[in-house]
Amino acid sequence: MSGPSAQRATATLLGALLLVIPLAVAAVLFASFASAGLQRTYTLFLINLVAVLGLGAFSGNSGILSFGHVAFIGLGAYASAILTLPLATKASALPHLPTLLAGLEWGLPAAFVASLVLVAVFGLAVGLPIMRMGGAAAVIATLGLLLIVHGILIGATDFTRGANAFLGVPRLTNIWTALGVAVLALLVVRWFRDSAAGRQLRASREDETAAKAIGVDVLRRRLVAWTLSATIAAASGVLLAHFLGAFSPSKFYFDDTLTLLTMLIVGGMTTVSGAFFGAIVVTLTIEVLRRVESGVDVFGWETPELFGLTQAGLCVLILIVMYRRPAGMFARLELGEAWIRGWLGRAGGTPVAAASTPVAADVAPGLLRADGITKNFAGLRALDAVDLSLAPGEIVGLIGPNGSGKTTLVNVISGLILPDSGKVAVDGADVTDWPSFEVARAGIGRTFQNIRLFGQLSVLDNVETAALAARGTEAVPADPNARARELLARFGLLDLADRPASALDYGAQRRLEIARALALNPRYLLLDEPAAGMNPTESNELLRDLAALRAETGIGLLVIDHDMSLIMRLCDRIVVLNRGEKIAEGSAAEVQSNPAVIEAYIGRKRARQGASIPTSEGVS
Ligand code: ADP
Ligand code: MG
Repeated sequence: MSGPSAQRATATLLGALLLVIPLAVAAVLFASFASAGLQRTYTLFLINLVAVLGLGAFSGNSGILSFGHVAFIGLGAYASAILTLPLATKASALPHLPTLLAGLEWGLPAAFVASLVLVAVFGLAVGLPIMRMGGAAAVIATLGLLLIVHGILIGATDFTRGANAFLGVPRLTNIWTALGVAVLALLVVRWFRDSAAGRQLRASREDETAAKAIGVDVLRRRLVAWTLSATIAAASGVLLAHFLGAFSPSKFYFDDTLTLLTMLIVGGMTTVSGAFFGAIVVTLTIEVLRRVESGVDVFGWETPELFGLTQAGLCVLILIVMYRRPAGMFARLELGEAWIRGWLGRAGGTPVAAASTPVAADVAPGLLRADGITKNFAGLRALDAVDLSLAPGEIVGLIGPNGSGKTTLVNVISGLILPDSGKVAVDGADVTDWPSFEVARAGIGRTFQNIRLFGQLSVLDNVETAALAARGTEAVPADPNARARELLARFGLLDLADRPASALDYGAQRRLEIARALALNPRYLLLDEPAAGMNPTESNELLRDLAALRAETGIGLLVIDHDMSLIMRLCDRIVVLNRGEKIAEGSAAEVQSNPAVIEAYIGRKRARQGASIPTSEGVS
């Protein structure tokens, strides 16, 4: 394992231990000194912690809230209950059970594993359609999952006794089994969060389109996280079944869903520490409110029963957190993450070569070609049979008035939108209808006119995620961390490596987006107005950087820009679009003196009066 990767793993483990150790110490204290009632409370807390860690592994990393995880908890509980129920109880309580199940009376370990496998398979199966939806549709679908599974638990009377209580489940969960599973869950979710898959998923949470543009297979990452989190939720269900000994389908419905979501939201969805502290705060709140709810003795005065106080209290808790700290208590950094990294020596501190090594020196002979691209938006012809080619080592400028179709062309080439007709080919391979993440992996990097960074991730992580996504392509960097640092150094961003990307100024954000696009070692890079919002000094620097990049690496660059003088100085060839049509192509001098171009920019009247194209403004 390389230096930075080993350090990252150490930081992950130390971060997990910061949570595991207090958990274990508290368990020892509760087991030694606390009343039986308090021990049960702590055990239940550990079970809830497993559930919320499971939920966070998916919702926190993907950004998609799930209302469905209590269904996995319920399925885990019923599966393990059926497998472990004593034969005599089984014969009387579940007389219609299939013979295969009727004869089973397993111990907890076997039932545990079998239940987890069962729920994992179920989770994967329902995840396939739900993950495809993404966004709000996926959230609603998880709610549907909760309702459907609840219905099934009630309907499958042969297995569950329907709405009746399922009794006689062996009470095998004690404080130590719960602790063991909780520790394991903590280590697994903490590891997943920092793994390559977890980090790519978090990038997609910040900006799905941008994640795809750096080669992240968002659907697959989501599916992995969803299945993992369903499995962990099921583990919590198994523990719960053997803790309670008796339950009915109503246990696995809205009440517990609300509790679970409150824990996640209060603590902060995006970190494991958030799930951890959310579980503590909410458990304490519930314990206190539940006592008050059933009436307490205040200096001899018996308070009345306050039905629903617990639920109301949780809602108020959510509101307070939303108002005071919308992202939760641990919004971005894990507990201790900053100082552990600092202590381990600035995440590797790999020496960065001053001049930085070439990106993709072995440029394959080839061409990026877009042929006859036509695209209509509801009757508006945004592109009309446009041809464009870009060779490695070439810098082509793409100009045209606002709304002439430049961005649309880049979107078509990078696989973000499908053209109505026409073909895009990379080095001979037809990529026209490939998903954008595969186009990226085929060697096309891009930036966006409206900057799309992973705002909450650090500057370093923005680039490193892209380097990680390059794995499995021809352009694998040996060490993604070193590669990311090298690119940050090249664009003058290394000092800002630990800042969240959203905290950078405009010019730095634009440079970061370019660095990120380069982490995938593209052979062609499409830059949509890279100098927009930069001051003249910054855009001159950018110009120099881009020219040097081309010289060193032989990458092919397509540059869209407002600044005509920048385009004229930088580009070997210029393509001009107007109202979706290519109206000119050639050298700076040729394009500048082309009557059609002058007319498109300045209008017929002034063109006749001999005006020429302005070179710094008024052009987009
Ligand atoms: P440019 O980048 O040259 O300014 P665009 O490619 O963004 O131009 O837009 C070209 C035309 O297509 C504009 O008229 C724009 O309004 C329209 N357009 C672009 N994207 C969409 C879309 N997703 N839906 C509808 N119209 C669009
Ligand atoms: Mg545009």
